[in-house]
Amino acid sequence: MSLPSPLAPPRRILMGPGPSDIHPRVLAALAAPTVGHLDPYFLQVMDELQSMLRQVFRTQNKLTLAVSGTGSAGMETVVVNLLEPGDRMLVCVNGVFGGRMAEVARRAGAEVTVLERPFGEIFEPEEIETALRQHRPKLLGIVNAETSTGAWQPVEDLARLCHNHGALIAVDCVTSLGGMTVEVDAWELDAVYSGTQKCLSCPPGLAPVTFSPEAVAVIEQRSRKVQSWYLDMQMVKDYWGSNRAYHHTAPINMNYALHEALRLTLEEGLEARFERHRRHHLALKAGLEALGIAYACREGQQLPMLNAVLVPAGVDDAAVRKQLLSEFGIEIGGGLGPWKGKVWRIGLMGYASSAANVLLFLAALEKCLQSQRYKFSPGASIAAANQVLAG
Ligand SMILES: *Cc1c(COP(=O)(O)O)cnc(C)c1O
Repeated sequence: MSLPSPLAPPRRILMGPGPSDIHPRVLAALAAPTVGHLDPYFLQVMDELQSMLRQVFRTQNKLTLAVSGTGSAGMETVVVNLLEPGDRMLVCVNGVFGGRMAEVARRAGAEVTVLERPFGEIFEPEEIETALRQHRPKLLGIVNAETSTGAWQPVEDLARLCHNHGALIAVDCVTSLGGMTVEVDAWELDAVYSGTQKCLSCPPGLAPVTFSPEAVAVIEQRSRKVQSWYLDMQMVKDYWGSNRAYHHTAPINMNYALHEALRLTLEEGLEARFERHRRHHLALKAGLEALGIAYACREGQQLPMLNAVLVPAGVDDAAVRKQLLSEFGIEIGGGLGPWKGKVWRIGLMGYASSAANVLLFLAALEKCLQSQRYKFSPGASIAAANQVLAG
């Protein structure tokens, strides 16, 4: 048997739904020497990580840490720690990730009610309140930035509704954290999870989570142990807390990478970072619209970091994505579920949200559209994007 060649991954420009491009400083952090998971140096790294995560989540929550696993592990951590078999959960589903949350809760033995909206739409507080009154759940789950559809679901007014009806609120901020405003304390969110691979621009592998004191009380008062040994916060927090009790070996170098990604985020400043995401979204949008390409979600409900647009009539979705990748090294995402073949998902997340990427993408897309014999005015998208970038 011959030995495979050494790894030589192609250099891509990751403009899909995640993972996003990684800053060289984060890649360098991954290559730093591994130390033991109880090494005094690593314990300091963990303390600094917790402190930076609190700043990024905008929270004072003591129970704030990085779960070992991708965003989905963060989702599962929140759901299985807050729910016991037979507990009621109401999940708002308007895309793939709401659907995943409902499935995780069902597998945890919860009694799940789904409040559904078609792909691309969002929920109004009134319908959520009606459902809370009707179903009296212990927990409401909702996705802030639905990466499968590009829809932005505001959540700032929802916690009050939940609390008025005796429910906790869990929010999926996998794609929103680091790219748009997320205010855990000001919005009184009880449990929030994210991932490293979207707007934090760190490789996939860790899931930042945070629990309010009320959520911690629910976890502490459980009558049964969490069915997942690995994700049991009662044990995991003993490692992240002052006990430093061995639970599982932390993925040391991934934690280094997140440390550097959070440093980059805070160095830039949250507000400046959100503004950067917004500016490049608007530039891309102006460019796409100049080509006659429309957004899949309504005006005012579009995410800055994930641009879901309709594939123009007569254009072959897969052929364009293939050409973008082979000729330009640009990855974008296709549609999922009912949007398969109909939608492109163009990410401008974290490090990848740059003027250079917007302009390169539009120029490359124009070339692909020419191959498709799609009619447009050449150069129009670049001019439109540059106008926004200049303003
Ligand atoms: C990516 C994503 C997830 C899942 O994260 P993984 O890192 O793929 O496990 C969950 N929710 C949303 C909104 C996401 O965008």
